[in-house]
Amino acid sequence: MSAVAENPTALQIVRERIARAAANAQRPADSVNLIAVSKTQPTSAIVALAEQGQRDFAENYLQEALPKITELRERSLCWHFIGQLQSNKTRPVAENFDWVHTVDREKIAERLSAQRPFYSPALQVCVQVKLANEATKGGAIASELPSLLKAIDQLPRLQLRGLMTIPPASDDIAVQRHWFRELQVIYQSLKADFPGLDVLSMGMSADLEAAILEGSTHIRIGTALFGARQ
Ligand SMILES: *Cc1c(COP(=O)(O)O)cnc(C)c1O
Repeated sequence: MSAVAENPTALQIVRERIARAAANAQRPADSVNLIAVSKTQPTSAIVALAEQGQRDFAENYLQEALPKITELRERSLCWHFIGQLQSNKTRPVAENFDWVHTVDREKIAERLSAQRPFYSPALQVCVQVKLANEATKGGAIASELPSLLKAIDQLPRLQLRGLMTIPPASDDIAVQRHWFRELQVIYQSLKADFPGLDVLSMGMSADLEAAILEGSTHIRIGTALFGARQ
């Protein structure tokens, strides 16, 4: 037995969960991308994961994220914005992040495209979809998606990649799979008109297995990598 198996790090344990879930879904393990959600975590915790080869990190709050991104600039990490987006806060997102997973209306998309610096590659964009009728959650509803995706597709500085969702919390794997399958079905139906779609951003610490079974390509993991948040 290797030293790794005897005393695995949190990152190794999560990678193992991904590999097992992918095998159960008869998918290659490298078809699932791991995004480490570092909200509330200090830069030292991000560095510890980066030293183990983790490259993708996600943040929810701009005030917290911007100093971390600046401090870690030399490490060339890939930064994902996954928080709720207000239209008066789009500029720092367009200037500092590589991806945004939470675009849910045209006005936000237009501002992000207009504010994306000319020297940066196109901003990679997922549209957040609200599946259940939850008042406090962001996201476009399914019927809004065709026109929203069409608008994003035409914006010069955005690259439309896929769909993202945060389903209602449940510890029942059948319920978890129900919501993820719903997003998968919507995604497949949109692919006819938007063949470039290649990202399903779904699955967190408590439901990554269900998400991978339903075809997730990007899981967003916080607690399982860093421990509980304050
Ligand atoms: C905090 C957060 C996560 C990570 O959640 P965990 O349960 O800690 O893995 C994933 N996605 C979004 C949008 C989040 O806000």
